[in-house]
Amino acid sequence: MSSVRVVHGKDEIPIIVRDEEPFLINRWRDVETGNEYVNEYRLIFSFREGLLVEITQKLEGSIGGISWEVTPNRLDLESLMWLMGSGSLERIRAKVKEIMQQLTENLDSLFFDPIGDRRRSCYVCGSDALHECIRCNKDVCDQHAVFAETEYEEPLTYCHECFDKVIEK
Ligand SMILES: [Zn+2]
Ligand SMILES: [Zn+2]
Repeated sequence: MSSVRVVHGKDEIPIIVRDEEPFLINRWRDVETGNEYVNEYRLIFSFREGLLVEITQKLEGSIGGISWEVTPNRLDLESLMWLMGSGSLERIRAKVKEIMQQLTENLDSLFFDPIGDRRRSCYVCGSDALHECIRCNKDVCDQHAVFAETEYEEPLTYCHECFDKVIEK
């Protein structure tokens, strides 16, 4: 199972991709107080802020701690080497790519096919039908529709076949 987790906002929109596995764990001692600390470094990708390193600091043996974020260029060279060797960059990148791909696919269906299931085709020529014959209820395109003027404001829409029959009468 991947250590990468996606944090969603409301509407299921991804906000943060986070590698739960630290790429670096630093233990150090505060010489003044004598306390032992653990710093854990995790890579995260924020869709708003980009690539960030989350540093969590806790007292040795305790559960909770404080955490803050820095951009990778704020890390020292040694920490960056740990990051490079951890596989965290590749894991995060693969996940972000996957999410972007899904978003792009969703965008395609939203922007290029807003009609979707409601698309109808002209019974004469098969192109997109925007009209319906009021007599036989068949779908017709612009070219195969006849708009008959009426004494009211709205013209009546017929297919050619029905229009001819109506005229004959
Ligand atoms: Zn047509
Ligand atoms: Zn008709």
